[in-house]
This record gives sequence, C-alpha cells and structure tokens, in this order.
Amino acid sequence: NRGQMSASQMRQLPAATARMLSSGQVILGPESVVKELIENALDAGATRVDVRLDSCGLDRLEVLDNGRGFSASDADLVAMRHCTSKLADDSGLADLVTYGFRGEALNSLCTVGQLSMATRCQGEELGREYAFDKSGQVVSRRDVAMPTGTRVTVRQLFHCLPVRRQQLRSAKRLREALASVEAAIRSAALANPGVRFALLSDGEALLSLPECASLNDRVRQVLSYAVWQQMQRLDCQINNAVGGRVVAFVPASGADKAMLFRNGDLHSFFIVNRRPVQSAKLVKMIRSTISSAFGVPTKLPVCVLSIELPADALDVNLNAAKTQIGLANEAAVLESIRTMLLDTVPNQSLATVSNTVATTADIVVANNNNAPDSIVSNANNKDVRADAAGAAAESHLPTSPVAPSAESPDQTEQQQHQIRISTSNTRSTRMRRKR
Ligand code: ADP
Ligand code: MG
Repeated sequence: NRGQMSASQMRQLPAATARMLSSGQVILGPESVVKELIENALDAGATRVDVRLDSCGLDRLEVLDNGRGFSASDADLVAMRHCTSKLADDSGLADLVTYGFRGEALNSLCTVGQLSMATRCQGEELGREYAFDKSGQVVSRRDVAMPTGTRVTVRQLFHCLPVRRQQLRSAKRLREALASVEAAIRSAALANPGVRFALLSDGEALLSLPECASLNDRVRQVLSYAVWQQMQRLDCQINNAVGGRVVAFVPASGADKAMLFRNGDLHSFFIVNRRPVQSAKLVKMIRSTISSAFGVPTKLPVCVLSIELPADALDVNLNAAKTQIGLANEAAVLESIRTMLLDTVPNQSLATVSNTVATTADIVVANNNNAPDSIVSNANNKDVRADAAGAAAESHLPTSPVAPSAESPDQTEQQQHQIRISTSNTRSTRMRRKR
C-alpha cells in the first residue's frame, strides 16, 4: 500500500532488532571483530595479543591477552550496551587515550555471535569464564585455570545475518577476509611496536610479531626486511597552530615497483595518535605524490604514515567502527605532509627503477592483496642494517609500550635499547553506565 500512508504506520523497532541493525555496523566482518578485541586487549594494558581463527573466525574467533582483566563485580556490565570503563561522560572525549569509549563492541558481538569471556586479574587464584546471551547478560559463570589476562571467544559469527555469513563462506571472500584480518593485526602492530602479536588460522601460524624496540624495527618486521630495505624514513614537524609531527616510511628512490606498489590499500598504513585509521584524503595524496612520481598512479605504495597530534586536535568519534577521525586544522596538517612527501621524493630520481634487490628478495610479491605475502619469519628480523630506512634514527613513539620478553629472538638487539614499560591507561577500570 505504497502511497497510502495512513497516520499509524510508525512504530519503534523492538530493542533487539534495533540492536542487531546497529551491531552490523560496528561488526562488519571478522576483521572488525579482531580489530575491536585487539583494541580492548591494548586498552587493558596487554603486551601480548594472540588471535586464533577457525574458518576465518566464522566458526570460532578468539583473542587472548595478558592484560589486567576485569573484576567479578564488573562482569554483569561488561557486555551491556554503552557500558565502558573508559569514558565517564562526553567531557572525556577531548583527551581520550584509550581505543574504546563507546561501550558497544562486546554488546554488538553478543548480537552477531555467541560471546564468552574468561578473565583473571592480578592476585586472583583462578580465572572466571562467563557466557553471555544476545542482549549481553551473563548466563553462566564457572571458575577456570588460566594466566592473568583475558580470553574472548566468539562463536557462530553472523548466525543472525545469514546473507553476510553465506557471502563470507565463499573461498574468495574468506581469502579477502583473512587478508583484512592480517592487515588489522599489522596495523595494530605498527601502532604499538612494543606489543607482541600472533595470528593462528586453522592451526597455522600466519603472523608472528615479537615485540620491537622502535617503530623502525616494527616496520622492518611487519613489512618484511626486503620491503623495508627499499624504504626511506621521513620526519616532519607540523608547523601550524596545532603542532604535531609525522613519521613516514615510503619507497626510497629506485625502489622496486613490483614489490613496493600494490593494488588496493591493505599495505598502506595510516596511524594517528596510535590509532590505525582509514583516510581517503591521505590515500589520494599518497597516490598523487609517491605513486605518480614512480609512474604507477593507480597503485598504492607499501607505506606507513604515523601522525602525532595533540589529543584535543582530534575527533575520534566520527563513525561507529572508530576507523575515521576528524582533524582540527586538517588542511594545514595535510599540506605539511604533502610538502614533506614532495620534498623528499623528487620525480626525477624516482623514475629510475632498480631490480637489483628483487633478486635477493626473501618474499614473493604478487600484485594481489590476497596473496599471503610479506609474512615475516623470525629469520628476517635478524639485525641487518640497510642504507635506506636503517640509517634513520631509531625513534620511540611516545605511546609505544615496550616490555622485555624471554622469548624474543631479537633480544640482543632489544637489550641495546632502553626498555620502557607502558604506563598509559592507568585509569580506573570500574564500569560505568554511560546513559
Ligand atoms: P569499550 O572498549 O568502548 O569500553 P567494549 O564493549 O569494547 O567497550 O568493552 C566494554 C568493557 O569491557 C571495557 O570498557 C572494559 O572495561 C571491559 N573489557 C573488554 N575487553 C577487555 C579485556 N580484554 N580485558 C579487560 N577488560 C576488558
Ligand atoms: Mg572496545
């Protein structure tokens, strides 16, 4: 009866339906589950984060951390909508140091999958495991033996959204989803050099990223030695009222195009104040400067751009997934970055292509985002200095926690560096109901 709207057709959606609709925006696929759970682990002060997937997370997706856990008295609120330990009211948004603040991820996970969490705080003899129903209420609780930290398990992801689940089942989509999960872990690793990350997919170790002492080491580890060797590091101060600084790793003059330029943006990493972000404007700028200079304007370089701005110059609440941010004085910030890129990548020298390094490459690169390339084995992390990026000063991002680990193959290298323990996120972990 289109066209015959009578007065009484409006109704408020049932709460459960409304929740499901908005949950589908926070949780788009396995990669966003992984991203949200990694953020929670990091917010809990973890220095180790393990991701485990069965069928790319559709059957089971698990994230384990060694963070501070949550207390028994918080368990009832942990997965309730708009419950968070990180933000008391909107006045806290201006100087947010945590990834989370919306109190939505766990609740959304209850709606789109089956959530359970095991956690043990420092000083507790045993851990506790909770299962949640789809509204986020605790339905069962038992004691479990486990180390300090938290293990979050999601089963049957998207069981309530059959179309999305079925779409993800195709071999091609599964490959894409897995590549996106890897990219999410690489982004988190680049934004947090001092944290150890690992990815296990159907029992196979796809990523193993022991903690690093600097962003430079992390870039080499995450992008592979062969790629890193062909990059240069750029530094610039943002000279405007806002202030700030940018560190970039971009292809060096003469870099191998086939290896350093890809289709799609899964290998271009943008980080703003330790937050991996997506930015159409930065993508466009990178294309028009670096890709153009190399004569491959449709591709994107393997690159890392880490921007640090005063916390109050950001709006981190633009979208539910928190992957987009607003910048105060955005035009000026972008202009500083563009100038930096143009200054250091003169068109002339970049036009020359060198294939000499390609022969010694320890990875096979396809122009295909789905290829499981640039997975770095520990052997590649041995300290071999290259002229390009290696000559750059080792620099600690101020927010990167570094913790010593007995298992690190890079230990000798690490011991030469200052070991710093994260002191961020020491706020109260008491749960607050936001509204
Ligand atoms: P947000 O991160 O926005 O607070 P979430 O739904 O992601 O919302 O998480 C809700 C709360 O659950 C967090 O504020 C935190 O207190 C607790 N929590 C979630 N994951 C963990 C974890 N891995 N370790 C400790 N506490 C956690
Ligand atoms: Mg969160």
